Amino acid sequence: MDINKVGIVGAGQMGNGIAHVFALSGYDVIMSDISQDALDSAMAVIDGNLARQVSREKITQAEMTEAIGRISTTLKLADIGPTDLIIEAATERETVKNAIFEDLLPHLKPDTILTSNTSSISITRLASRTDRPEKFMGFHFMNPVPVMQLVELIRGIATDEPTYKTCLGVVERLGKIAASAEDFPAFIVNRILMPMINEAVYTLYEGVGGVSSIDSAMKLGTNHPMGPLELADFIGLDTCLAIMNVLHDGLADTKYRPCPLLTKYVEAGWLGRKTQRGFYDYREDPPKPTR
Ligand code: NAD
Repeated sequence: MDINKVGIVGAGQMGNGIAHVFALSGYDVIMSDISQDALDSAMAVIDGNLARQVSREKITQAEMTEAIGRISTTLKLADIGPTDLIIEAATERETVKNAIFEDLLPHLKPDTILTSNTSSISITRLASRTDRPEKFMGFHFMNPVPVMQLVELIRGIATDEPTYKTCLGVVERLGKIAASAEDFPAFIVNRILMPMINEAVYTLYEGVGGVSSIDSAMKLGTNHPMGPLELADFIGLDTCLAIMNVLHDGLADTKYRPCPLLTKYVEAGWLGRKTQRGFYDYREDPPKPTR
């Protein structure tokens, strides 16, 4: 199936990155959110990120102008119904995602492919609530989307081959590389990454090391480009906690229990970079460890 027009639900840090890469690859994009502020700041972030690519001579000014011109925004979810491919990138909560798909269904074309950028929620379960489980997939981008090469493609139990092949073709046109994952909690990347981040929070909680020691140890000791706590702040601590809960509930193994300190940060609203404070306080320059 030919994909030309793409709808994105959620204009947060993932939604704006997804809009950026699709528009730059020549797709028409319409992005929706429940918040006008989120849509406005997404457009400002896209503009800034494209301008950086121009200044680094990765793209031309003309390509930037064309890409911006291909993106429109809306507060009405129904407006994105008549597109070829929809990528849901709203908050990592199953009730939120189910409500979005339910509201979208009456407005879809018969052949619209539905996908979710969920980090961890069952694709099979999300698909089963729609009228087209065979045209439903996990389309999991990494953060930051314009920079990261990988897209995890997750087939639900009912996903058909043409849907998978179409999504694979889209990943290739974006200039990215796909890895196929089976539909089990948190798929591949987060099944491995999140327990490591959660263990880093336990290491902090039990006083084995402070924030700086833990991040330095993992950067210098294992050659990771970012420490696990810095990475957790970058991902969003609410998203990290939501993924740990999905692993814990879905695999029923206590080794996945979320660290109480991670829960405490989320309860405080200290969600990482997006709220200016998490394991680091980003109102300081350089960011100051909060423990
Ligand atoms: P975010 O908090 O930055 O953005 C979420 C956006 O969704 C917000 O703008 C919010 O207003 C919007 N939203 C909430 N309910 C909505 C609704 N009913 N309709 C439309 N928009 C709605 O979150 P994010 O980090 O961009 O994560 C989005 C999704 O991407 C999640 O499923 C997350 O698991 C996944 N993901 C995140 C990362 C990461 O590193 N943050 C990486 C890969 C995948």
